[in-house]
Amino acid sequence: MEAMQEATSVVIIGAGVAGLTLATFLQSSGVACVVLERRHRAYIEVRQRAGVVEARGVRMFERWRLADKLLGGPVAQAIDYRVNGTSRIFKTVGDDGSEGRFCTQQMLVGNLLREHIDLGGGDVRFGVGDISIHNEEDCRPKVGYSDSTGPHEILCDYIVGCDGNRGVSRSSIPEGVLRKFSYEFGYAWLAALVEAPVTGQPIMGVSDHGFVAQLPRGPSRSRYYLQCALNEGPEDWPDERIWNEIRLRLCDDTIPNAAVHDKDFVPLRSVVYAPMQYRNLFLAGDAAHLVPPTGAKGMNLALYDVDVLAQALTGAVHHRDKTGLERYSDTVLPHIWRYQEFSVWMTETMHDAGDATRHGAFRQMIARARLDTLFQSSTAMQLHGEYQRGTF
Ligand SMILES: Cc1cc2nc3c(=O)[nH]c(=O)nc-3n(C[C@H](O)[C@H](O)[C@H](O)COP(=O)(O)OP(=O)(O)OC[C@H]3O[C@@H](n4cnc5c(N)ncnc54)[C@H](O)[C@@H]3O)c2cc1C
Repeated sequence: MEAMQEATSVVIIGAGVAGLTLATFLQSSGVACVVLERRHRAYIEVRQRAGVVEARGVRMFERWRLADKLLGGPVAQAIDYRVNGTSRIFKTVGDDGSEGRFCTQQMLVGNLLREHIDLGGGDVRFGVGDISIHNEEDCRPKVGYSDSTGPHEILCDYIVGCDGNRGVSRSSIPEGVLRKFSYEFGYAWLAALVEAPVTGQPIMGVSDHGFVAQLPRGPSRSRYYLQCALNEGPEDWPDERIWNEIRLRLCDDTIPNAAVHDKDFVPLRSVVYAPMQYRNLFLAGDAAHLVPPTGAKGMNLALYDVDVLAQALTGAVHHRDKTGLERYSDTVLPHIWRYQEFSVWMTETMHDAGDATRHGAFRQMIARARLDTLFQSSTAMQLHGEYQRGTF
C-alpha cells in the first residue's frame, strides 16, 4: 500500500510534556507542526509523574502568555527536610518573590492537550506506530508512520525527538555521533500513590532506615518515594511494609495506614547525550537527558529545552535565521550540566545521610554534616535555594 503524503514545517515525535509544550509554543508563533504519539490520549491524560514547575518554568509560561491557562495548583512555599525526625523548614519562595507552582505533570499535560488541541485545533495524532525517521544530508527530512488507515509520510523542515528515554528519535542517529555520559547511583525508589494528602509541607526525610519523600498529588492524595535496593520490585513491597518503613524513616509512629493506589519502581540514574542535534533532528527532554527525581528537575529541564528550541525554530521558519538552531545544543547543555550537578549532590547527600549499609557510617556522618552546614549557613541556604527554586 502506498504511503499517504503530506507536508508541514516541524514534526514532533512524542506528546509528553516536552512535545506538547513545544507544539503549543510553535502554534502561538504561527509555525505549522504535527505531533506523533504512540499512546492514546486517555493514557497520556492519566500518566502520573512530576509535581513542581519551578520558578524559571513559571516565568517561561508567563513570557509565552500561557501561565494562567496551563498552571493550576498552589505556590510551592517550602519543603520540610527531616533528619532522624528533626524537621527544618526550607523556604522555596525567594525573597525576590520568585515562586514555583505545585502543578502535577498530569495536570500540566491535561491543560496542554486542552489548549493545543481542543481550543487551538492543533494536530496531534495518537496511537501511531512504525515511526521511521529520514534525516539524510541534502534531502528534505521525512517522517513515516502507520495508523489504522495505513502508512503515511510527512515531509518537513525539522524533526524534534521528544519521545523520552526509550523512543525512536535518538536511536535513529548513527552510532558514533552522540556521546553518552551516564552515572548509576546503585539504588532505586519505590513510588507509591496513596490516599493521604500532604498535611503540612512536602517532606524529604532520612533516618538510619533510609530515604523517604512525600509530595502532594492533588487535594486527597500524595506520592511517597522510598529508597529501595535495585534488585527489589513493587512485589517486594506489600502495603504494610510501605507504611512501616514510612513510619521508621520519618521517626513518627503516629502515621496511620491509608489505601495505596499504585506502586512504581524507578532506578536512580543520571544520563546526558551530546550533542542534542544531528542534521535536522533535535532532541529535547528525556530523549536527551535523565536526572534522578530527587532534585525534581526532569520536567523542568524538558521545559527549558523546548523554550530554547521553540524560539530557534521560529527564527528558522519565519526569518530563515538558523543561528539559534545551530547553537541549540551549546545553549542548553551548560544548563543541563548545572542541573545534573545539583541533582547528583542532592541525591547522594540525602541518601548517604540515611541508611549507612551501602557507603558506611563515615559517609553517613559526612552527609549529615553537609546538611547541617546547609541549614546553618545563609550563603549555602541561598545557593541551594536558588537551585531548588530554579532561579539561578
Ligand atoms: C517517578 C518519577 C517522578 C518524577 N518526578 C519529577 C519531579 O518531581 N519533577 C520533575 O521535574 N521531573 C520529575 N520526573 C521526570 C519527568 O517526569 C520527566 O523528566 C518528563 O516526563 C520528561 O518529559 P518528556 O516529554 O521529555 O518525556 P515523556 O514525558 O516520557 O514523554 C515522551 C512521550 O513520547 C512518547 N513516545 C515514546 N516512544 C515513542 C515512539 N516510538 N513514537 C511516538 N511516541 C513515543 C511517550 O508515549 C510519551 O508520551 C519524574 C519521573 C518519574 C519517572
